[in-house]
Amino acid sequence: MSLLDKLDAVAAARKALLPEDLDIFGTPIEEVYSTTEASVGGRRILFFGTNNYLGLTFSPECLEAAHKAIDREGTGTTGSRMANGSYSGHRALEQEFSEFYNCQSSIVFTTGYQANLAMISGLAGANDVILIDGDSHASIYDGCKLSGAEIIRFRHNDMVDMEKRLKRLGERASSTLIIIEGIYSMLGDRAPLADIVKIKNYYGSILLLDEAHSIGVLGKTGQGLVEETGLINEVDFITGTFSKSLGSIGGYCVSNHMQLDQLRYVSRPYIFTASPSPSTIASTRAALKLLRDGTELRNKLWKNAHKLYSSLDKQGYKLGPEPGPIIATILDSPKQAIILWKALFDQGIYVNLILPPAAPDGKSLVRCSVSAAHTEDQIDYVVNVFATLRKNIF
Ligand code: PMP
Repeated sequence: MSLLDKLDAVAAARKALLPEDLDIFGTPIEEVYSTTEASVGGRRILFFGTNNYLGLTFSPECLEAAHKAIDREGTGTTGSRMANGSYSGHRALEQEFSEFYNCQSSIVFTTGYQANLAMISGLAGANDVILIDGDSHASIYDGCKLSGAEIIRFRHNDMVDMEKRLKRLGERASSTLIIIEGIYSMLGDRAPLADIVKIKNYYGSILLLDEAHSIGVLGKTGQGLVEETGLINEVDFITGTFSKSLGSIGGYCVSNHMQLDQLRYVSRPYIFTASPSPSTIASTRAALKLLRDGTELRNKLWKNAHKLYSSLDKQGYKLGPEPGPIIATILDSPKQAIILWKALFDQGIYVNLILPPAAPDGKSLVRCSVSAAHTEDQIDYVVNVFATLRKNIF
């Protein structure tokens, strides 16, 4: 098959599965009215699939910081930090991340995707082993590929399977990099961190935890699963993103290993890409302060999450294992998922459609993401629409 034929096959597969009149995976958003509302096809829609967990994208503090930074430093850095230097904002944000996690060292990356790529490929190489959860995000899989290391998967959150695989490695277990997520992006469940830490300590492995979906969401000050469990000192490297609770774009890694700093010299996804723009860094710095003091926002987020999860559960939808800001309904087939997605969209509710192979174990998901910015009325509306659809289409 030629290179272009392969893309024609992708187009044919999409056409066979998806309704012709709807570009589900490229929905054009015409206008954004607020954190939770926008216009699509001339109609007002509710955002219920973005990861704007604390609703900070329109916070006055973040907007003001971004505006000032653009005026002062321009729209972009137009180069990598290695070649063109680090702006004061890059360095300040790294310092603020170190303080936030009370860690020795921190690096800021241009996206969360690149944070994982950079960390994994910088830490592990051709002779190393990486042990990952089967439900890991694509950035973790891609980072593993880029590293050239041997990749071993364990069944999602299955500690018996994880230990079995580590034990089989014998002496190599002590130089194995284990990678997990705080809250998993597909089903919204947490990693059993205490059990993982026990096992990794026994075998002397290194642990990297991606808090992309848990920063701002879990823990008293929003550090993530490490704070909720009190296990921050047991995790070697924490990565995460600015594109969810922090409302911008970028990624980070924090660690108490001083060697983290050396990754700047060996990690291609850090070296060979432009650094985050000044406005992005400035709004992220403002957002990090709000996140840290965001107890009220977290309470509101969890109130919304519990309400939506328990309502859909009562209505008989098959859901991910536990309540949280990611609420995935699990459908029996891609066709059913498309029907549900389209029916929600027709009622002005815009959520995520996730079909195999993007979803784990061949699952088809219609995934909602809840925000602290959602009002009670908006949550009630979504609950009622789901209830009606349950009766009418399933
Ligand atoms: N890790 C996880 C678990 C994610 O879900 C995502 C994004 N969905 C990323 C990393 C990448 O983050 P970003 O959007 O900042 O590239």
